[in-house]
Amino acid sequence: MKMMRFLTLPLLALAACAPIPDIAESSNEQAGTPAPTALAENRVSTENLAKWRKGNPSWYAAVEPFQVVGEQGAGLYYVGTEGLGMFFIPTPDGHIVIDGGMPDQASTVAEAITKLGYDPKDIKILLNSHAHLDHSGGLADLKAMSGAQMIASEGDRSALEGGFYLGSEEEDFLFAPPVKVDRIIADGETVSLGGVTMTAHLHPGHSRGCTSWSMDVTQGGKIYDVLVFCSATVAANRLVNPPQYEGIVDDYRSTFDKTRNLNPDVFVANHPGFFGMMKKREKQKAGDALAFVDDKAFGKFITRVEGWFKDALQKQSAKAAP
Ligand SMILES: [Zn+2]
Repeated sequence: MKMMRFLTLPLLALAACAPIPDIAESSNEQAGTPAPTALAENRVSTENLAKWRKGNPSWYAAVEPFQVVGEQGAGLYYVGTEGLGMFFIPTPDGHIVIDGGMPDQASTVAEAITKLGYDPKDIKILLNSHAHLDHSGGLADLKAMSGAQMIASEGDRSALEGGFYLGSEEEDFLFAPPVKVDRIIADGETVSLGGVTMTAHLHPGHSRGCTSWSMDVTQGGKIYDVLVFCSATVAANRLVNPPQYEGIVDDYRSTFDKTRNLNPDVFVANHPGFFGMMKKREKQKAGDALAFVDDKAFGKFITRVEGWFKDALQKQSAKAAP
């Protein structure tokens, strides 16, 4: 039985990887506009959502939306929950949202934006840290309610538009509502709206197109560089035998090489536990206006994550050895 599994899984992985070079070439020719593909059907079941909700109560625990850093009406706002980080960036020309949370959480994000005094219908740009259902799940509904442009990396495009977890395409527990990608973003490219510029940083590994976003935010006359980090944990990913996708181990290594010496003034991420949000939020509430400014925080975090990756690689490799 075990043998059967190992035989079928590599085929699945190869099938998923095969079309990618062609898509990448054609999208380059069209300056970031992806060639049209049919959008998959939404296969998310209410039974599976109920299981996720039961297993991860913090993902559904409400947090009052708040400003992480910035001046009144500008900067970075938190519109997520206790366990899932979603972010809102208002501009005079419409708004930017990073991540949609779980498949049933577009309304959570929309209500948070409304509470902050903005109209979710004015979202013009949707960004995604990575194509896993706990961060991409709400994007299709947010797009439907606002008509916003969905911008993502080529590496995550097939999973976003197919509504699956790359390399585990048949696993229905991991399905997300498919969302059409309107523009492909490459490493170092920028997205601008209403005087705000966001820069994409491809940090593949956790997903093939994992994308962190950075921006400058002014507060009290000073400019702070903010990093919304994608993730680099191994989590459910197979690193070997067969890998979740071809090249995953090299991708993780290149991401650690790229991020090891980053020291953003403000580090946030799509899981609040990564950056100790609740503690910092308490400090902020107590009057520390710069509670989220700490240029050592990301370095400490990524060093720990790299250690976890090395352990996981060793364990998975040992298990796979004959
Ligand atoms: Zn993930």
